[in-house]
Amino acid sequence: MLRVVPENSGQLVPLDRVVPGNEGPASLFGLDAAALAGVLAEEGEPSWRADQIVEAIYRQYITEISSITTLSLDLRRKLAARGWRIGRPEITKAFQSADGTERDLIHCPGPKAETVEAVWMPDGDDGEAGDGSNDESGAGLEIKGRRRATICVSSQVGCAVNCQFCLTAKLGLQRNLTAGEIAGQVVAVLDRHAVRVGRDRVNLVFMGMGEPFLNYDNFMAAVRLLVHEVGLSPQRMTVSTSGIVPGLERFAEEPPDLRPKLAISLNAPNDEIRAEIMPINRKWPISSVIDAVRRVPLRPRERITFEYVLLGGVTDRPEHAREVARLVRRTGLPAKVNLIAWNPGPDFHYSTPKPETAEQFQKALTAEGIPTYIRQPRGRDIFAACGQLKRTVEA
Ligand code: SF4
Repeated sequence: MLRVVPENSGQLVPLDRVVPGNEGPASLFGLDAAALAGVLAEEGEPSWRADQIVEAIYRQYITEISSITTLSLDLRRKLAARGWRIGRPEITKAFQSADGTERDLIHCPGPKAETVEAVWMPDGDDGEAGDGSNDESGAGLEIKGRRRATICVSSQVGCAVNCQFCLTAKLGLQRNLTAGEIAGQVVAVLDRHAVRVGRDRVNLVFMGMGEPFLNYDNFMAAVRLLVHEVGLSPQRMTVSTSGIVPGLERFAEEPPDLRPKLAISLNAPNDEIRAEIMPINRKWPISSVIDAVRRVPLRPRERITFEYVLLGGVTDRPEHAREVARLVRRTGLPAKVNLIAWNPGPDFHYSTPKPETAEQFQKALTAEGIPTYIRQPRGRDIFAACGQLKRTVEA
């Protein structure tokens, strides 16, 4: 029997209304090299100076124009006098988990200043590579004595999708994040942990607060910044969607050298259960999501990830596992399943399944030939685990 959180009635909220971002004055952070060249042209400066700013703000993590010493003092002063600032989001508070995970509260400045959350997982996101791949080789580079790290970032402040098991949903949607605010979370976390892109191995997951495909333009603009200006590989990025079909259709058109990997937040074995725990399913049922996923041209050896939250008694029964196996097989997609035992939060009436239940579920799927992994919760004690992000300051 499904139980629905009372104050969160499971109603669909309008998803297509225009949601404002944080358009404000004069942040250099968030501009790509071409846009920076445009800013410099206004000052009568050559376009190659844009590369100096890119290097400073995206690769050296400089946060004050006055500190960009590759620019002349005169130019630095001119930019500041015009009202330009770097304007990168900054970490204002960090919560450390016993397992090494860190949850960062990140302040996004501007006229609609907000705080969002990102999560740093120093060992990657559990027993898999954390980027949706199955890289278990352990062949990564060391980051402060560790092999690799994964950063989970937010795409919106709050979320409108209203998944009934998710703490972020309780915030409702406050606003979209801009491309600079999304990429800025990544750079702020890289800066904090002294990560050098190219030397260290970083995976990125767009699985924090918000539904990336309901902020599609800013999400993909952030990906372009992260690939071109910061230097991260899209093949080490994974975006997770609750199944926004128009977003999936646009995603299918993205060039392969810019497209992150795709994870679908499935979470239920059939439409009936899914519609109860994910009201979005009433708008885009499983079959329509799968049809849209099929149109995404996969790279060689790439697999679609199905994320599946195990809710005690609701989605974790043996018959559910059999149904999920049939469903995934019928898609005909190269796929794998990530099982996530539900992470508890205040005011929910769900329960977390026992580890044995998750193991049985995994066995049932692997017996059907479907690669299936149990993702251990990371940072549960600091409210950093999946579905727990809610700007909880007093964790
Ligand atoms: S699980 Fe993701 S899509 Fe669903 S409400 Fe939470 S943040 Fe939004």
